[in-house]
Amino acid sequence: MQTIVIIGGGAGGLELATRLGDSLGKRNKARIVLVDRHPTHFWKPLLHTVASGKLDPQAHQIAYSAQAAEHGFQFICGEATRIDRTKRCIHLAALRGDDGGEIVPARTLPYDRLVLAFGAVTNFYGVPGAARHCLTLDSVEDAETFRRRFLLSCMQASARAADGSGDGRVDLVIVGGGATGVELAAELNHTVRTLARYNVHSLDPAKGVRIRLLERGERLLPHLNPALSRRATRHLQRMGIEVCTGTAVASVEHDAVIDGSGVRHPADMSLWAAGVEAPALCTTLGLPLNRIKQIIVTPSLQTVDDPNVFAIGDCASHVSPASGIAVPPRAQVAHQQAMFLAEVLARPSGDALPHFRYRDYGSLVSLGPFAAVGVLIGGLSGREMLVGGTMARLMYGMLYHKHVLSLRGFARTVAQGVAHWIRTKITPPVRLH
Ligand SMILES: Cc1cc2nc3c(=O)[nH]c(=O)nc-3n(C[C@H](O)[C@H](O)[C@H](O)COP(=O)(O)OP(=O)(O)OC[C@H]3O[C@@H](n4cnc5c(N)ncnc54)[C@H](O)[C@@H]3O)c2cc1C
Repeated sequence: MQTIVIIGGGAGGLELATRLGDSLGKRNKARIVLVDRHPTHFWKPLLHTVASGKLDPQAHQIAYSAQAAEHGFQFICGEATRIDRTKRCIHLAALRGDDGGEIVPARTLPYDRLVLAFGAVTNFYGVPGAARHCLTLDSVEDAETFRRRFLLSCMQASARAADGSGDGRVDLVIVGGGATGVELAAELNHTVRTLARYNVHSLDPAKGVRIRLLERGERLLPHLNPALSRRATRHLQRMGIEVCTGTAVASVEHDAVIDGSGVRHPADMSLWAAGVEAPALCTTLGLPLNRIKQIIVTPSLQTVDDPNVFAIGDCASHVSPASGIAVPPRAQVAHQQAMFLAEVLARPSGDALPHFRYRDYGSLVSLGPFAAVGVLIGGLSGREMLVGGTMARLMYGMLYHKHVLSLRGFARTVAQGVAHWIRTKITPPVRLH
């Protein structure tokens, strides 16, 4: 029986492990193994809502072990540190406890076929001080760190204003006017007002927290239609968020972000959301990579030099043969590639492999709890439809439910939706501690 190992249980990897477990694992046709460095899965597009305190990540995490037991695959918790393609084995780091003591020693794991699905990390583009001083949104831990720091900054500024030792203001700079930066800025505006309502701070909600969004390009949300970028910009400005386009960041210090013209943007906190690159593990594989270290794959999602190794999602670079353009690092892509590989890997090895074709269904960007903008692409003609407002926000919310549906089935998705709705009725709209 062959062993198929998937490294990374994110948007792509967990859906793939679930499908392959159901089709091959449960019938003993192959051993399916999922490796992730965390014990639970969290859907990354929701990280900005964790950072803003709107969502409790505990309630939306899926335990890999439970998913594995129900869907016929094995889960191993560990961080892949090296892949030996000659011996076809993966090296996993030792698991350590909170005090640093070794819980499980370093191990190796053999494979027949391997799927790399370990996502991407923040790209600081070598900007001096950025990695040291900016927070990021790569994981639940990052989002929780941001949330706590933001809450404490508001409380501290409020206390200092009360005793006359401060000006009663928090300066937050978000670098990057893509979807992550825009969505976080909009959510935080709502958070500041809610925290004031619950007397967590006494800052003026309109002026007490200055959120400044710096974007190198000429407009926010460069992947969307210019009309939608203008709409999103107006929406954020109405909320009091300062939008600075055409502003490239030259360096970051502990209390300021400095742009290419030498302007200092004061920052009690700064967050870097200006792009991604594949993790350093990619550079150890001896496989061809693109300029952001993503693994270059063939039209069948196999790595160029090794037909037994596949790559999907953010760590892979797949150029669409139709457009000649690399598919973007998005959950939608990871999902479609996982569905494709679930079919391909279920075939007997040796069969000719089909080609993956990405279908773009559009893109939605949330502008806080009550609005979103985006474009939907549908029908045979592939016609684009611009959407906005509350309707678009409802559609945005459905994207997460679609992901849960593919992992947990209809009944549990509905139950989780109802539980979430009840929680919103019995707890404050934002986490207060
Ligand atoms: C804040 C934010 C908002 C976003 N919003 C959207 C959105 O609105 N729409 C959209 O389409 N996309 C969005 N994205 C992008 C989307 O989340 C990614 O494209 C998608 O998650 C990629 O899926 P993946 O399976 O490639 O990787 P991930 O989902 O990133 O999963 C990677 C997994 O690999 C594990 N891992 C990493 N390294 C190792 C290792 N060495 N060993 C073991 N395990 C490892 C990680 O723990 C993780 O579980 C957003 C991303 C962020 C950060």
